[in-house]
Amino acid sequence: MKTKKSRDLIDSFRKSCRPPARLAPSVWASGRVAIMDGLTPKYQIENAPWQREPLDTLADGDVKEVVFLAPIGTGKTTFMEAALQYIIAEDPGPTLLVGQTDDDLKDWAETRMDYAIRNTPETAALLPEDRHKRRKMQVLFPHMSLFLTGANLSGLQSKSMRRVFNDEAWQYRPGMLNESRGRLHDRWNRQFFILSQAGVKNDDLDKSWEQTDKREFSFSCPDCHTIQPWKWCNVEYSDDEKLDNLTRAKTARLKCENPACKWRCEDSTQKRRALAESGSYVATNEGLPGHVGFHYNVLCNWRKPLWEIVLLWLDAKTAQRVGNLDLLRQFIQKRLSESWEEDNTDNRKELVGNGYLMNEFSDGRKIENEAYRFLTVDKQRDHFWVCVRAWRADGSSMLLHFGRIETFDQILELATRYNVQPRMVFVDAQYDTDLVYSACAPKDWTALHGSGQKSFPYTRKDGTVINRPFTRFSEASNTSGRRVRYAHWASDRVKDILHAHRTGLAAAWDIPDDAPAEYLRQIDAEVKREMVNAKTKQSEFRWVKTRNANHGWDVEAMQIVAALMLKLIPGFDA
Ligand SMILES: [Zn+2]
Repeated sequence: MKTKKSRDLIDSFRKSCRPPARLAPSVWASGRVAIMDGLTPKYQIENAPWQREPLDTLADGDVKEVVFLAPIGTGKTTFMEAALQYIIAEDPGPTLLVGQTDDDLKDWAETRMDYAIRNTPETAALLPEDRHKRRKMQVLFPHMSLFLTGANLSGLQSKSMRRVFNDEAWQYRPGMLNESRGRLHDRWNRQFFILSQAGVKNDDLDKSWEQTDKREFSFSCPDCHTIQPWKWCNVEYSDDEKLDNLTRAKTARLKCENPACKWRCEDSTQKRRALAESGSYVATNEGLPGHVGFHYNVLCNWRKPLWEIVLLWLDAKTAQRVGNLDLLRQFIQKRLSESWEEDNTDNRKELVGNGYLMNEFSDGRKIENEAYRFLTVDKQRDHFWVCVRAWRADGSSMLLHFGRIETFDQILELATRYNVQPRMVFVDAQYDTDLVYSACAPKDWTALHGSGQKSFPYTRKDGTVINRPFTRFSEASNTSGRRVRYAHWASDRVKDILHAHRTGLAAAWDIPDDAPAEYLRQIDAEVKREMVNAKTKQSEFRWVKTRNANHGWDVEAMQIVAALMLKLIPGFDA
């Protein structure tokens, strides 16, 4: 038996003349590569059976490009560390690691990457002793060079590589993956790796995936032997919407995709682990020669209980009902590792009255179970559009008044007639800000500013930061020195929520039988369109006007802002 010391010594003598071990990379790495904060001190392929085939492509000369779409929290970083040690020890060549930014990579290089190289005997022996050969963004080994860069033009130019790894490519700016591909200079033995969660349909990552053979991690049903991927649509759970989400999630089971088969996988670590360990990839596409794709989703990850996954999904569906698509998008991209596609179908039906008349409430009487009522005001150059809506604690609401007025005094008169508390009068201050502030300050009305921001970070009492579609209140002074309360709201997000109410997906959002024709025209004055952001060059969806008079839509959007602020609409505090 050799001691560790003598083995290290022998290894270091061998470092430049040792023949490759001829083990498959996954076998070589397993039990050998040191992992910082890993499940086990050494990389173990059994912990992540979905990495076996992707890792083994390192030794397959026919594979030129690998797209590996993986959900978060399933060992993508560990995969990189294992792959890198194999390359350094067994199949060296100039290698470039690309991350979203320099800083992301620097952090990883200084901690986890450094740890893996130093603590894996085969690579530790090769680490250059000259500290000048070990910089933050490069390591010049005696037999190969390793470079790191953020996904930017300067970092992706000039160097010629044998292998390039692209981490979290869903975050790269358009064009950067191609710049990165250019570093391989068409070498005969080149390999290009893309490791990422999913992004959006038709982004550079998605296009790269579409060119591969799209292998899906699959299992054979223990009963009927149908081979199938872990599919989200095969997860069944109680559809009783009267139950709370947690209770429903706890009924979840994975079923077999064969409708004639009765097999169900119970939510136990052991059963799910056994299923994952039996898994292998099945190609679902022709693809370009040498372009290999691997995909799996969170359902394969037995370490995450199925009920937790289903709870995330049910919470995302709850938020979707009030127009908040963030959680659903994150679930699709980060858990299912599938591209997100904005559903842009606009199925607005004509609005019909909900069985009451405006004059039934024009004396200021409350609606049944009323919690709050708001008066929202859209300021034009010489007139205003106004809307009074009463809200219940369950998020349902009734429109009580809509119309056009000419003066600030008429706003006051309307607020008095409808018994709206001064603070619950919200006035658009985007135009004539100082004039609006001067009107709001003495009356204790609240000024609002619509914003093009997607959302605003908000720090909760426990220190966690969430994104909300409105800011907390600030105070400003108008020119005569009086204090006025104001807030900003994220226009596109709030309009998504309004649209969910308008189309009947959220809580009841009633209008009177005699809603003015002008209101009915103006409420449908905007549609959501895809456009390219001039700054980021990424495509995004924004609400745009289809007719000039969109004031009904605007004053209703401000109602949504007020209802969000008073927590009448749920889904934004999670
Ligand atoms: Zn079956």
